[in-house]
Amino acid sequence: MIETVLWEELKWAEIKELASQNAVVIVPVASTEQHGPHLPVSTDAKLVTTVATRVAKAMREGGVPGIVAPTVWTGNSLHHMLFPGTISLDYEVFSRLMLQICLCINHHGFSRIVLLNGHGGNEGPLRVAITEINQKVGHPVFGVDYWDPARKEMAEILQVQTGVRHSGEAETSLMLHLYPELVGDYSASVGPDRPDPEELSGGMAYTFRTYKDRTRIGVIGDARPATAEKGKKMLECIVERLAELFSRPSLWEITL
Ligand SMILES: [Zn+2]
Repeated sequence: MIETVLWEELKWAEIKELASQNAVVIVPVASTEQHGPHLPVSTDAKLVTTVATRVAKAMREGGVPGIVAPTVWTGNSLHHMLFPGTISLDYEVFSRLMLQICLCINHHGFSRIVLLNGHGGNEGPLRVAITEINQKVGHPVFGVDYWDPARKEMAEILQVQTGVRHSGEAETSLMLHLYPELVGDYSASVGPDRPDPEELSGGMAYTFRTYKDRTRIGVIGDARPATAEKGKKMLECIVERLAELFSRPSLWEITL
């Protein structure tokens, strides 16, 4: 009986065994980037790794084998580079990294792969990367933003936000629940304090803008109403929805 759900703790024979069971491999895709004055630069990596691990455990309890690949700790954070601590890839390297990881996982016999995204800046690039990944891997690889399937439940738990915003109520609540020792003073963590050009154009024009242009402290959201209790409730909903989604046989019946 294989106990761990973490790829990095498995021996090769156990990985072979899990491939023969058609296990779902969850690859957490994160970032290392500034998270305002009160959260560490590892926030996205820590949250998505925890979510993925709990999802894999919940899947196993439901009889579907799930494994969590090592977390991709860097992503697309070029818009955060003007704040210290951010380490970002460019789009080309990100795309190639995602493809190479999926090709290797597939090479070892796994055809059910999810790229579980934990960072807003990865959303667009991941969609582009997946187009190529699916063609080269030959099986449908799915991308999921971890907060997306439980969006409705999260909106009911959150007081001032409706979803995850950068270092706001949701992320701060999740960190207060999981890593309270890493959360600093968030009594003034609210942003943005400058207008978004997309809003100025009525949503009709989009552009690249750095975070420094939009927020002096690196926060887009309102962390002030965050609590550990909200974080706990949100995490439970997120894990439940994702485990159900990845365990759904119909998800994996798609052919390319
Ligand atoms: Zn974040």
